[in-house]
Amino acid sequence: MSATENFAVIIVGAGISGMYMLYRMRKLGLSVRVIEAGSGVGGTWYWNRYPGARCDTDTLEYSYSFDEDLQQEWEWPERYPTQPEILKYLNHVADRFDLRRDITFDTRVEAALYDEATSRWQIATDDGAELSAQFLVMATGSISAPNIPAIEGMNNFNGPVYHTARWPHEGVDFSGWRVGIVGTGSSAVQAIPVIAEQAAHLTVFQRAPQWSVPAHNRPSDPKMVAEIKADYAGFRARNRLQSGAQLSHIPANDFSATEISAEEQQHILEERWQLGGFPFFGAFNDITVNPESNKVTADFVRAKIHDIVKDPKVAEMLTPDYTIHCKRPVLDSGYFETYNRSNVLLVDINAAPIEEITPTGIRTDDADYDLDLIVLATGFDAMTGALLRIDIRGRHGRTLREEWAHGPVNYLGLQVSGFPNLFTITGPGSPSVLTNMMVAIEQHVEWVTDCIGFMVENDHASIEATEAAQEAWVAHVNEVADQTLWVSCQNWYQGHNIPGKPRVFMPLPGFPPYVEKCEEVVAKGYEGFVLS
Ligand code: NAP
Repeated sequence: MSATENFAVIIVGAGISGMYMLYRMRKLGLSVRVIEAGSGVGGTWYWNRYPGARCDTDTLEYSYSFDEDLQQEWEWPERYPTQPEILKYLNHVADRFDLRRDITFDTRVEAALYDEATSRWQIATDDGAELSAQFLVMATGSISAPNIPAIEGMNNFNGPVYHTARWPHEGVDFSGWRVGIVGTGSSAVQAIPVIAEQAAHLTVFQRAPQWSVPAHNRPSDPKMVAEIKADYAGFRARNRLQSGAQLSHIPANDFSATEISAEEQQHILEERWQLGGFPFFGAFNDITVNPESNKVTADFVRAKIHDIVKDPKVAEMLTPDYTIHCKRPVLDSGYFETYNRSNVLLVDINAAPIEEITPTGIRTDDADYDLDLIVLATGFDAMTGALLRIDIRGRHGRTLREEWAHGPVNYLGLQVSGFPNLFTITGPGSPSVLTNMMVAIEQHVEWVTDCIGFMVENDHASIEATEAAQEAWVAHVNEVADQTLWVSCQNWYQGHNIPGKPRVFMPLPGFPPYVEKCEEVVAKGYEGFVLS
C-alpha cells in the first residue's frame, strides 16, 4: 500500500457491517478501501472460533437481506448456524460480490485525524501507511474488543492461555488436559459442554451465574424454509417491526404474566421452554419492564436449574439472584447438564476471588486449582472498546477518548459532534446489541449510504451532528433505558465488566421507533446535523 492513498470512503473492519458498507459504497461509484486487522473477512465470525461457537439467532434471520438471489440460494443446515457455517457464508458473500479486491487484510488502523482545512480524515495504519478519505466509517463491531482481565501472574502460567475471541485457527485438542475456564457468559456457556466432553477435567470459575435457556438447535425444517422463502421480503419487513428486530420468527405473546392465572403462566412458560431460544423470553410482553412478569419467568427458570442439576449445592451456585434478561440472554445446549458430570467442578469466584495465576494453575482466596490450560471467556469491552482503542481525533485535535471520558455521547448512535464525516455502524446510542445485529447493521449501512449519496450529489464537504442534537439524543437514550429492567443488574450494556469504565447504559432499546426517528431526521433535511 502506498503511503498517501486517497479515497472517498475508508471503512474500518471487514465484518458483516464493513462488507455490506463496501458493497453499497461501490454501488454509489465511490472509491473505497476497507482496512481489516484479520487475515480474512467475517469480523466476529473470523475471530470467535472457540469450541461450540454458534449464533443464537435463527439462521433465516441472521443473514443479509439486501440481495434476493443470495437469500434465496443460500441453504442453512440448522436452526442456529455454527461459526464455521457463518464464516463460510460470509466468504461466499465476499466471493460473490468480489469484495476482497478493496480490502486490505492483516492491517490495523491505529489513528484517524480530522483535517479541518480539507474536511478529510487522515488515517494511519500499523504497517506505517497513511491514507486519506472524505468519509470514515467505523464498522469495528459492538462486541469485538476482547476483555483480557488484569489477573496477576498471567504470563507465569506454564501452559497456554486462550481468550475465546482470539482462538487458535488450528483448534485446540483438550484430550487428557485439565482445563480451567474463567467466565460464564454466552461464549463460556457454549464452550463448556464441548470442552467438558473432551478434557480430562474442567474447572469453571464463575463470578456471576447466568440465566440460560435451552437453544433447542435442530436441522432446518424444509417446509418452514420454503414458506419463509416464498415471501422473504415480507418476512424481513415484519421482523423490522419488532422491538428487537426479531431473533426468531416465533413472535412474542402480546400479554403480561399479570393478566393470566398462575397455572396459565406455568403452561405458557413450559411451552416456550420447549420451543427454546429467544422465543422463551417472549412468553410475556413485559419481561424487561415489569418486575412481576420478570419474577414469574425467573422463578420458572430457577426451578428448571434445580431440576436439571443433581447436586443441590451446585444448583444453588448456578442460580442467579438478579433480574432475568438483565444481562444479555444466554442460550445453551446442555450447559446446566454439564455440571452433573464427574469431571466438572464449579468454583464460585464471587465468594473467593481469583488472586493470581500461578505457573501450575489458578489460585483463589481459598484454594489452588492445578491446570494445564486456561480459557478466558471474559467477554469484551463492548460498544466503545473497539473505537477507543484507535486514536481518533476530531475538530481542534480533540480525541474521542476525551469526548467519551464520561461515557459515549453521540447523535442517533451514528455520529459524534466534533467528528464530522465519521460514522459509527451500530454505535452506542443505537439499538445494536439489543436487536438482531444483522437487521440493525443493514439499517445503519443503508442510512449512511443514503447520507453519503446525498452529500456527494449536493456537493457537501462535511456533515456533523450538532451539540444540541447530541445532548438531546443522549438524554433520550437514558430516559428510555431507565424505564427498563436492563439497568437493574451488573451487565456489559452498562460497562460493569470493565474496571473503571463509565457506567452508562449504551444501547437504545426499541428498534422500530429508532428507525422512524432516523427516517424523520432525513425527511427534515438531516435535522440535527450541519451540512457544509
Ligand atoms: P460476557 O457475556 O461478557 O461474559 C464474560 C464472563 O466473564 C462473565 O461471566 C463475566 O462475569 C466473566 N468475567 C469478566 N471479567 C472477569 C474477571 N476479571 N474475572 C472473572 N470473571 C470475569 O462475554 P461473552 O460470553 O464473550 O459474550 C459477550 C456477548 O457476545 C454476549 O452477551 C452476546 O451478545 C455475544 N455472544 C453471542 C453468542 C451467540 O450468538 N451465541 C455467543 C457468544 C457471545 P460477570 O458476569 O460477573 O461480569
